[in-house]
Amino acid sequence: MTAQASVSKLQSHLPTATIGYPRIGKNRELKKALEAYWQGKLEPATLLTTAQEIARSNWNSQVAAGIDEIGVGDMSLYDPMLDWSVRLGIVPDRFSHLHGLERYFAMARGQEGVPALEMTKWFDTNYHYLVPEVGDRWQEADFSDFLEQVQQAQQEIGDRAIPIVIGPGTFLRLSRLLVNQEVVADRLAERYATLLNHLKDLGVKGVQLHEPALVLGDAPQFQPLYQRLYQQLTQVGLPLHLVTYFDDLGEAYPWAVQLPVASISLDFTRGRNLELLKEHGFPEDKILGVGLIDARNVWAIQPNTVLDKLQAIRAIAPQIKLQPSASLQFVPYDVRREVKLPEPLRNVLSFAEQKLAELQLLKAYWEGDTTSHTRIQELEAHWRAFQGFSPANPKVQAQLKSLTPQDFERPAPYSDRQKYQVQLPPLPTTTIGSFPQTLEIRQLRVKLKRGEITQAEYEAAIDAEIAKCIRCQEEAGLDVLVHGEFERTDMVEFFGQQLCGFAFTEHGWVQSYGSRCVRPPIIYGDIERPQPMTLREFKVAQSLTQKPVKGMLTGPVTMLNWSFPRSDIPRSEQAFQIALALRQEVADLEAAGAKIIQIDEPALREGLPLKPERWSEYLTWAVDAFRLAAGVAQAATQIHTHMCYSEFGDIIDHIQRLDADVLSIENSRSNNETLFEITDAGYSHQVGNGVYDVHSPAVPSVEQIVAQLKTGLAHLPIEQIWVNPDCGLKTRRWEEVIPALKNMVAASKKLRAELQQQSS
Ligand code: GLN
Ligand code: ZN
Repeated sequence: MTAQASVSKLQSHLPTATIGYPRIGKNRELKKALEAYWQGKLEPATLLTTAQEIARSNWNSQVAAGIDEIGVGDMSLYDPMLDWSVRLGIVPDRFSHLHGLERYFAMARGQEGVPALEMTKWFDTNYHYLVPEVGDRWQEADFSDFLEQVQQAQQEIGDRAIPIVIGPGTFLRLSRLLVNQEVVADRLAERYATLLNHLKDLGVKGVQLHEPALVLGDAPQFQPLYQRLYQQLTQVGLPLHLVTYFDDLGEAYPWAVQLPVASISLDFTRGRNLELLKEHGFPEDKILGVGLIDARNVWAIQPNTVLDKLQAIRAIAPQIKLQPSASLQFVPYDVRREVKLPEPLRNVLSFAEQKLAELQLLKAYWEGDTTSHTRIQELEAHWRAFQGFSPANPKVQAQLKSLTPQDFERPAPYSDRQKYQVQLPPLPTTTIGSFPQTLEIRQLRVKLKRGEITQAEYEAAIDAEIAKCIRCQEEAGLDVLVHGEFERTDMVEFFGQQLCGFAFTEHGWVQSYGSRCVRPPIIYGDIERPQPMTLREFKVAQSLTQKPVKGMLTGPVTMLNWSFPRSDIPRSEQAFQIALALRQEVADLEAAGAKIIQIDEPALREGLPLKPERWSEYLTWAVDAFRLAAGVAQAATQIHTHMCYSEFGDIIDHIQRLDADVLSIENSRSNNETLFEITDAGYSHQVGNGVYDVHSPAVPSVEQIVAQLKTGLAHLPIEQIWVNPDCGLKTRRWEEVIPALKNMVAASKKLRAELQQQSS
């Protein structure tokens, strides 16, 4: 064979790889097994078998799709970061008296007197991981469960099985270190080397080391650490595949691609990796893993766009393999099951199984297999059909085009608005919106769906709950009431179902954490509100009381961030479309007599891009979207917003720019730090700094709440302070809610009396 011929052969072969698959099971088998196990209704062995069955079914789907290198070993009973923490022997002392599954789940969920590990968001996804706590005392490492998983995979799918391991750099970067970083790095290097040696003995062809932390803004700081770690690990002699995703390598690119590994995978669906590749080239001795199929969204590929990109990448990196941009855990399993979705929409959606098929399609096309042409033409036809099915909505487009700066402004500045708004006693009391969602209420919806009750019967039952809720708040003595949100399944789904442009799946579950799954709606068209969404329940509630009832809406940014967005227009535009729909709702609520309207934005912060240099761009349009929704309100209407997280310091200017009259926030788990951040930054509007933790069943005492409020009073003028729980009460029981709210009101009244005495 001539050199020329061998080169072209090399070029025409395009291997495919995967870097993770959904873990929850096609029918959420893992969730069901976990919950049964926790209730003592399932044997541990059955739980483990369930997990193995899911893993096996995952491998087989990937084999059936013809994937060459299949990532294995990512199956987890709760969370892979927790798995690696335990395997590496990093178990905080408070769990050391426990063993096996009991210890594992205690670390995940806590136990009487033993708090769980902290849980936080996995990069900018809606998945949450457990944060390892790395202290001085480590237990012995034990990789046996992982090695077993890998062996089973080898038996099932042979040497296509490539183990997935969370890389040492990322493990370290995401952990809470209680000891010196250098010490931790050295110990990790040793343990990872042991693991790699075991894997080598099993005869695997290589190992994937997942290092998404390399895309974070602070990666350059860790350069010496990565270099040292990988220098040590490469000694083992097992081919290392360094896998990155969620964003580009940024400034770390030049040295990261030189790490001593066999291949490097980059995400080409987000960030600037293609530009970086063009600027700096790619080492000739390495294989480039091309993350070209978007693992974070549910849309089918646009064949031409993707093939052009592949061509551009291939021109720079001669040796490539094709893969999804990240683990497919962020999308559901199979869109073919969504038989209720309109066909033109279903045909352009792509869940995990379809993404595998897309990999194979691109491979076939690239390798010159002409049968792929038909499929590509078919896909193009589906996209054309979809354009016809969901054309741009001229009304919405016209509204967007005619927006003026005034549309984003309240009619008067905050300082002038206040005097027109509801007059309330000092330290006014309220709640965040939801009241207990009991089993009976959830069953009402099931019955309605099955046709066992009529819409009128359903509404009557909801109204009875509203009446009970209003009575309870009146009895507790709250100043600003809510209707209780009984009619809402979920704060995004409830609105999405009433708006044009949102679609809902039946089986489109993705894991949020542990056994918790969510079914994000899909935004597929221009958003329009055909009719009012919250008016009926608001009117029912307000008719039952003299006190003001808050209108309750979910904000545009939260609706967007908790959905699968369209991929053909910018997120900012989608947020503005939702904002326009909410704007009509605000106007309608106001016309129906709402003096106070709350627009919740609990997901505003989580939309922050991974790289801080892109924060400001995001926050600008995100805050604008909120302002567009709220801006229609008259000066006399008090606008509230609610956010349930506790880091504000770094975005406080943007929070101020929301221009909400009242901001309620989670605080009780952060020891007032949130409040100090806000007040230090000179936040000038009213703040409801959560006075008790709604995630705990404990009823807060009057004294506790008084103490909490006194801290507030020491930092903020009394006119700025509201009194409310941390978040909605929907997961609590009435028996907990009633005494807690009574104590909250009593605390506020006690302070009011004290302050009045002082001033007289
Ligand atoms: N109004 C919503 C509720 O009370 C807010 C929920 C949230 O912040 N996540 O349930
Ligand atoms: Zn909240």
